[in-house]
Amino acid sequence: MAKWGGFLIFMLLAATFAWWGTGAIPPQYNPWAPLTLDAPPTLVTRYKLRGLESQPQRCFALLETARARGMIGWRHQPDGGGECPLHDRVRVANFGAIALSGPFLASCPLALRSVMFWHQRGAKLAGQLQGSALTRIDHIGSYACRNIYHRSEGRRSEHASADALDVRGFRFADGQRINILKDWPEDGQRGVLLRELFYQGCPYFGNSLGPEFNAAHADHFHLGVNGFGLCR
Ligand SMILES: [Zn+2]
Repeated sequence: MAKWGGFLIFMLLAATFAWWGTGAIPPQYNPWAPLTLDAPPTLVTRYKLRGLESQPQRCFALLETARARGMIGWRHQPDGGGECPLHDRVRVANFGAIALSGPFLASCPLALRSVMFWHQRGAKLAGQLQGSALTRIDHIGSYACRNIYHRSEGRRSEHASADALDVRGFRFADGQRINILKDWPEDGQRGVLLRELFYQGCPYFGNSLGPEFNAAHADHFHLGVNGFGLCR
């Protein structure tokens, strides 16, 4: 009986693999389909994003495609960094039509996750809720050679490897500005917009920490690559 059980499971697996092979299921649910910039952030997409951390060539190929499509401006950052060495990092100058308060250093997975979020969901959402196009993201940096919470000992922060960006506000074509410290606690439209952006961004990042997480995050969203969807 046990022998037949094993055979049945084998046949079921074989059928499933054959079905996947036909391409009958959409790529965002197919673990064997290559990741694309337009893939919605399903669980399968998120596994593929994780996988890119050990496949820099694939990650850079996607980032090249994004640049060619005008979704992001970036260039390679020379290796260096001393105590917190940087290797295979990029300098991101913009997300296409969305400017930045300044360029930021990023690992390829951070740049890719960010560009996927802003182009698939973030810009549209912000524009709809504000009634004006998102023109600029204000941030307070991505790279700082330090431990978490600036402690003298303990774990290195994701910022020590440029694996997270701290975003603190947004600017719009109509001149409006939204500031996380001031506007997150508001019940009005600005608060709603910030909360929508934060929570809808979570599936694109490994971890997203915002003002609800702790006082250290009252004025920014920490959007990082490590983890598998922590969203607080
Ligand atoms: Zn941070």
